[in-house]
Amino acid sequence: MFPDTVKAILEGLNKGDFSSEEITTELLARANRHQPDFNAFITLDEEGALAAARQADEARRSGQAGQLLGLPFAHKDLFCTQGLRTTCASRMLESFVPPYESTVAARFRQAGAVCIGKTNMDEFAMGSSNENSHFGAVRNPWNTEYVPGGSSGGSAAAVAGGLVPAATGSDTGGSIRQPAAFCGISGLKPTYGRVSRLGMIAYASSLDQGGPMAHTVEDLAILLGVMAGLDEADSTSAEEAVPDYSAALEQPVKGMKIGLPREIFEAGKVGQTEPAIQAAIESLKSLGAEFVDISLPHIDLSVPAYYVIAPAECSTNLSRFDGVRYGHRCDNPKDLEDLYARSRAEGFGEEVKRRILVGTYALSAGYYDAYYRKAQQIRRLIKQDFAGAFQAVDAILSPVTPGSAFRIGEKTADPVQMYLEDIYTVPVSLAGLPSLAIPAGLLNGLPVGLQLTANYFRESTLMQLGHQFQLHTNWHQQRPSTSGRPD
Ligand code: GLN
Repeated sequence: MFPDTVKAILEGLNKGDFSSEEITTELLARANRHQPDFNAFITLDEEGALAAARQADEARRSGQAGQLLGLPFAHKDLFCTQGLRTTCASRMLESFVPPYESTVAARFRQAGAVCIGKTNMDEFAMGSSNENSHFGAVRNPWNTEYVPGGSSGGSAAAVAGGLVPAATGSDTGGSIRQPAAFCGISGLKPTYGRVSRLGMIAYASSLDQGGPMAHTVEDLAILLGVMAGLDEADSTSAEEAVPDYSAALEQPVKGMKIGLPREIFEAGKVGQTEPAIQAAIESLKSLGAEFVDISLPHIDLSVPAYYVIAPAECSTNLSRFDGVRYGHRCDNPKDLEDLYARSRAEGFGEEVKRRILVGTYALSAGYYDAYYRKAQQIRRLIKQDFAGAFQAVDAILSPVTPGSAFRIGEKTADPVQMYLEDIYTVPVSLAGLPSLAIPAGLLNGLPVGLQLTANYFRESTLMQLGHQFQLHTNWHQQRPSTSGRPD
């Protein structure tokens, strides 16, 4: 039996308890066995993974080091991996094999990690349930009739289901935090610009941010240390030095100030997650944290503003998929117009088309001021709300989602219901702040997540709070009974 956290696997590899080839072989077998249950992967790279694992074992034998040497993990299928198919869960890119590597993939490779495959996701990262994939819905390992959350649902299901100890995700409006919450794992959306976006297929460029997903905050600290840092080739990547995130873990919580937004807590909007969230507040209080009432007055405008800005950016980003340069091309086009129209009609799924339509409308000459400009103004107000709050507190606490995972099919008929799932995650995204989701309880047998948000580049504060919380609770140690581990 192999351990399932990054830290314990790296220790096991270092001590020689098992080799990278052994654990990689086992995880590939589990991933294959559970593909019909969870549908967590789009592509498994058995050959590439085993070769990389053997190489890591060889490197270890010859005394070489690497932060993640021999660690098996998976990438969300929007990180371009050179020579390995990258689909973004779209028919448009069904057979796209990138000629270059994303910076994130390159950094994992340089650290010696072994990518076993590419995880399923909502098409072009658009969704909150992982039901929008061209390769079929992902299922939640806690109960396969329920969604795993989206859009990094394949990554979350693969970790929760014991198929990999860690996976990458991307978060535009909640896509790391919400699936982490629904699947009972930990996930971090870093500050916008902390992790390079080069080679990460774009959805909404002013919001997209890659980050790690794993069982524990301790693991997130190790992984973020590998992913973060300036990339000269991404002009939006930050110059800010990367601190030692693992060193932050041991700092005590005593005396830290945590804000509770009254627009959530006093307005009775904590909803079904209330008992879990209250218990988490009590745990943090017992560790010496002080809770402070704060106000984020424009938070209710976040979902409408986000669902104008994100589609607007997506409509321009996705204009590159025209059937000419790369991606799906329709058969026998009559003329150029027909080539564009049919290639896009065939290549994109329903939700992606809905976003392109909404975004194009919001950016059109007659409506730009009414929708796009207004949404940008709201975004500024939300940013200012957070800036005000962080004058008084170190972190802000809230639920990740209004409830636990919902049933597959439950919200697909009503996009607005689906968008409202993002009510606690999108304000943070609009402001570009770092935010952590950690398991904090169970509701009807399904995990509930706690969200902690800090000021720009204060990922260390989140690591500290999250790790200290995990030292005193055991929600992060709970595993679904249907998981891929051999019992
Ligand atoms: N659910 C949100 C959306 O569909 C967020 C997705 C994401 O973060 N990629 O836009």
